[in-house]
Amino acid sequence: MTTELCRSCGSCGFPMRTPDDHAGGDPDAEYCSTCAEASGTLKPYDEVVQANADYLVREQGVDLHAARTMARALLASMPAWQGRR
Ligand SMILES: [Zn+2]
Repeated sequence: MTTELCRSCGSCGFPMRTPDDHAGGDPDAEYCSTCAEASGTLKPYDEVVQANADYLVREQGVDLHAARTMARALLASMPAWQGRR
């Protein structure tokens, strides 16, 4: 709560502002709760694409097909997914 440092998810780049934004509510978790299990383990690529697409549909009102394309493009630029398509 006192930290100014805003870590972002290594998988989707989501800024994790509160412990709840981190996987499992652990402020030291490298990934957000969307991308990783409560244990902190990164979810499979397809699940992360789907989870991020759902988020875009919900938050930005884009249609699911466009959201999945956006999610794939987003993940392709993130360190957690370098080297995979
Ligand atoms: Zn994430």
